[in-house]
Amino acid sequence: GSARTNACGSACGSAPACVQTMGLDGRCCCGYFVDGLESVACARCSRRQHGRCVGVHSSDAFFSEHTCPVCRCSTVDPFLVPHDGDDGACFAVGLTSRAVTRTHDPEISLQWFLSAEQHRLLLCASSHTSSSPPPLVLRAASLLCPPKGKKRQQRWPNATQLFLNRAPLPIVHYDPVWDGISYKDRHLDEPVELPMHLLRVGQNELKVVFSDAAPHAVAVQMMRRRTVDDIRRQVVGEGTLSYDEALRRVLQVAGSSDDDDLVASAKVLSLMCPLTRMRISTPIRSSRCSHLECFDLDAFLQCQSAARIAKWACPICAADALPEQLRRCSWTARVLEDGAFRGATEVQVEPDGSAAPHVAAAAAISSARKRTVDEVDDLGDDLDVKVQQVGGRADDPIELD
Ligand SMILES: [Zn+2]
Ligand SMILES: [Zn+2]
Ligand SMILES: [Zn+2]
Ligand SMILES: [Zn+2]
Repeated sequence: GSARTNACGSACGSAPACVQTMGLDGRCCCGYFVDGLESVACARCSRRQHGRCVGVHSSDAFFSEHTCPVCRCSTVDPFLVPHDGDDGACFAVGLTSRAVTRTHDPEISLQWFLSAEQHRLLLCASSHTSSSPPPLVLRAASLLCPPKGKKRQQRWPNATQLFLNRAPLPIVHYDPVWDGISYKDRHLDEPVELPMHLLRVGQNELKVVFSDAAPHAVAVQMMRRRTVDDIRRQVVGEGTLSYDEALRRVLQVAGSSDDDDLVASAKVLSLMCPLTRMRISTPIRSSRCSHLECFDLDAFLQCQSAARIAKWACPICAADALPEQLRRCSWTARVLEDGAFRGATEVQVEPDGSAAPHVAAAAAISSARKRTVDEVDDLGDDLDVKVQQVGGRADDPIELD
């Protein structure tokens, strides 16, 4: 076929030629044009890549949900988001793989052009007088291709060495931990922020030297740092469920009957944050949560910003809880503000979606007592049935004889 449709890395001249900026010019992250080979579109930015370059086949269940390496690198750290949207943010992408580097040393070179204006913006941000980290950074992130599951990940190839314009850059790589049963690998190494003093106006180069047969996509992107306050504003604004939406949600959960009860009964809802063990002030959940319990927005964001490797997971059910998935619950907020429940640590949620004071002591004890009696009765019935069955079976051989 023509040079345009060559399989990735099959007949290239030099390593840098394998690695091109993955833009909208129809090239895959391998540097070759996408047409002619089986390709897959990114569900977020609709860039296309060769299925084989990103380890996705059209028969895979997640084919339609595939997210490209650039978009996945963008979500490694929710405090950093691409500056100026998907295309303006990505400077260079390269794939480390035997296919690409077969005829070369195990290294790839990512090259990009930094304009005077971009350099000035980064420099301004980094020389900001405050002690906080710069709001704008050029960052290198890396992930395994094909990605493992849908989780966030950041993984440097084994024995990676990075060189920015020939100067070595330290990286932090976490080896999998043996817990006595299996190796636990969180797939969350630390991305690298490219230091300003090594960047120059014009052509820049990040060399990645590695000894890892598994392909990794490495992306250099310009990122904007969000503060805890930025994320808080976003959640309290567009992340807030209207009262009607929140009520519908409450009815779904509160109106559902327990599997052994025919009639829905009132449910007890804690108003305490599982993180602080104090009363919640801004109640949130993840859009992935199926429970009614909330946790406190500020406590959650503080935990994420203090953690070295933030999990961004619901403290109640461990579902993903990225900033865009956080939902403030107006129903719970109204209960928390209601004078009738001042200082209450839990309320009773009625099947009709209303809240009532939870009379803990007396009611709980009497219902527990009733429950115990019922269960003992049930257990007795079950035992009777089993005894009869066993008896019946025991009789069978006698009849056969
Ligand atoms: Zn090559
Ligand atoms: Zn490709
Ligand atoms: Zn994408
Ligand atoms: Zn949850």
